[in-house]
Amino acid sequence: MAIVKLERIKEFMNISYAAEMLLEKNEKEISFSVNFKTKDDEIVFCDTYVVYHNVVLGPAKGGIRMAPNVTLEETRRLAKIMTYKNALTELPFGGGKSGIRIENPNIDEFTRISIFKEYVHMIREELIAEQYIPAPDLGTDPFDMAVIYGELHKPECVTGKPVKIGGLPGRLEATGRSVATSTKIYVEEIMKEKLNNLKIAIQGFGNVGRWTSYFLEKFGAKIVAISDINGGIYNDRGFNIEKLFQYTPTKNTTIADYPEADKITNKELLEMDVDILIPCATENVITKENAGRLKCKVIIEGANDPVTEEADEILKERGIPVLPDFLCNSGGVIASYIEWRNGKSGNQTEKEEVFGEIDRKIKKCFYKIKETKEKLNSTYREAATYIAVKFLIEAMHERRWL
Ligand code: NAD
Repeated sequence: MAIVKLERIKEFMNISYAAEMLLEKNEKEISFSVNFKTKDDEIVFCDTYVVYHNVVLGPAKGGIRMAPNVTLEETRRLAKIMTYKNALTELPFGGGKSGIRIENPNIDEFTRISIFKEYVHMIREELIAEQYIPAPDLGTDPFDMAVIYGELHKPECVTGKPVKIGGLPGRLEATGRSVATSTKIYVEEIMKEKLNNLKIAIQGFGNVGRWTSYFLEKFGAKIVAISDINGGIYNDRGFNIEKLFQYTPTKNTTIADYPEADKITNKELLEMDVDILIPCATENVITKENAGRLKCKVIIEGANDPVTEEADEILKERGIPVLPDFLCNSGGVIASYIEWRNGKSGNQTEKEEVFGEIDRKIKKCFYKIKETKEKLNSTYREAATYIAVKFLIEAMHERRWL
């Protein structure tokens, strides 16, 4: 998975041994088992992890992932990405993440509620003290956050809640908004092109994929290929995203059988002859096996960690730029910050204001990364990591950790 090693960043700046240790070691790791009985009297055991990576900037912030392939190692990496994301966007949060490994994610509402009540039960003190502030991630949604809120009754203890109970208008769409805005800026500033002249493929039609395609269409883009875990669809003329939303109204519906399209596999989608590829599903989908076959001109990382380390090297050699996850999908945590702030102050923010704040931060970070990339003669990911690491080291000095 592609996270730039500190060894590489050390080629550009001095990093003391102490700073390196504070950036490499996790501040805290909690492992427990969420056990529950289903309606059919079956006992299910879910290995669960909560990791705080570096919390120099503030409380650990990051989503709860619930999927069959969750591991402690993956949760650690995702917590580290959150540290970098919060530092890059200059938010007052540290890096955190939760992972719940569930063999069969197709569970009924009763079981879901049991899981999240049990999850809170196991780490209540951490949550009440706001040492870790969860949000939705792959496999979880605002209703799960509502259960967490219902157990704690402190609005600032969890973000990504439904709007009627203190959630933020626009939080649901926020990650997709930042992915779409990152794409638009890249197209205009680097490719010197217009979105409507280009072909885009998006992997994943969950929270991130849906809203990325929604905003890109609003920005004038043509999305020709989309997929979910069941398969993909292709239409050279571009999709009407609203129709796709109507075709897949719930989490359990799939776009794979959408009639006005050719059927494609996820493998075909990734290797398709398009201008822009936006992986928005899960990690490690661009690997050393397929990186040599990609035909896109740029990859915009909507998902966390979709490109492996080996693939990142191959793409670098092939001259295919990758705009990194911790810039592109930072809209979720930017919106979470506004929701957390409102939870504390009682303030309310309009949706358009939220999107405006996301666009402003993405634009500012993008130009900073572009400038740094040119100065260091590096990749976008290396430049973004350099900026985040520098910010974290300065903050560690301010807190007298160093
Ligand atoms: P989600 O569960 O809502 O949707 C995931 C989508 O990907 C679904 O369409 C699913 O069918 C598809 N998918 C899953 N595995 C796949 C596979 N192997 N091949 C093809 N498609 C597959 O999840 P999400 O919230 O949209 O998160 C997607 C990614 O974005 C994750 O990497 C997550 O960590 C990252 N992310 C999410 C948020 C957020 O606010 N939701 C914020 C930042 C980053």
